Amino acid sequence: MAHPSQTPPRGHVAFVGAGPGDPELLTVRAMREIQSAEVILHDQLVPEAILSLASEGATLLPVGKKGFGPSMKQDDINALIIAHASSGARTVRLKAGDPGVFGRLDEETEALDAAGVPYHVTPGLTASTAAAASLGVSLTKRGRNSDLRLLTGHDVKGFAEQDWRTLARPGAVAAIYMGKRAARFLQGRLMMHGGAPDTPITVVANASRPNERQLPSTLATLPADLDAADLDGPAVLLLGLAPRAARAIAFARQEVS
Ligand code: SAH
Repeated sequence: MAHPSQTPPRGHVAFVGAGPGDPELLTVRAMREIQSAEVILHDQLVPEAILSLASEGATLLPVGKKGFGPSMKQDDINALIIAHASSGARTVRLKAGDPGVFGRLDEETEALDAAGVPYHVTPGLTASTAAAASLGVSLTKRGRNSDLRLLTGHDVKGFAEQDWRTLARPGAVAAIYMGKRAARFLQGRLMMHGGAPDTPITVVANASRPNERQLPSTLATLPADLDAADLDGPAVLLLGLAPRAARAIAFARQEVS
C-alpha cells in the first residue's frame, strides 16, 4: 500500500475527510489529495468552497445523499468508485466531516476489498468537534463527563434507539448527528428516562461555515425552539452543552470580519 504522504498510485482510492465545511479546517493531506485528484466523488454536503480547490481538469461527481432528499443507491456509488479507480484515474472519495463517522465508509471499503481495489483513509474533523469549538466549550470535562457519545438521531429503521438511561443522567454529553427531525423523539425518550427539563442542548447548524447558526436550547424547549428557529442545512445537537462566553465569541467574529 502506498504511503499516504505520497501521491497515491493509479487504480487506488483515497477516502478523504472534507471536515465540516470551512476549507481552513481541511488537513494538509486532504488538501493535497483534493488538488491532485482527477476524479472526485463527493457527498452533497461538501461545500463549493472546498470543491473549488480541485484542479481545473478534475471531474466532480456528486453522489450520496443530502438530508432526507433523494439519494443514489449505495451499490451504485460503490460501482462508480470502482469503475473510476479501475480506469486508472486518481480517484478521491470525498466525504463530509470524518469518513468514519456516520459516513458509510465500511460499506464502500468492503466493496473495494471485494473488487481488489486498494485504498487508504485520510481522516477529517467531524462536525461535533467543529461545533463545540464554535461554542468555545469542551466536549469532555473533568468531573462532568468521562465519556462522549456520537449518536445518530436516525438510522435505517427510523428514529434510532439508544441507551437513554445513561444519556439522561446529569452531566452526560452526546453529539447527535442527523437529529433535527428526531428532536421530539429524543426529548420524549430522555424525559421518560428522567432527564432534567433544564438540561442544556445546543444546536449548531452549518458549523464552521459562513452561515453557521447556534441555537441554545434545553430538553424542555428543544422541539419548539427548533420549530421557531427554522434552521437550514446540516445541524448537530450537543446534548449537555451550553455555549460559554457566546457574546465574547460573537464580538470577536465582528472584530475579525
Ligand atoms: N461524516 C460526517 C457526518 C455525516 S452524517 C462528519 O463526520 O461530520 C450528516 C450529519 O452530519 C448531518 O445531518 C449533521 O448532523 C452533521 N453535519 C455535517 N456537517 C455539519 C456541519 N457543518 N454543521 C453541523 N452539522 C453537520
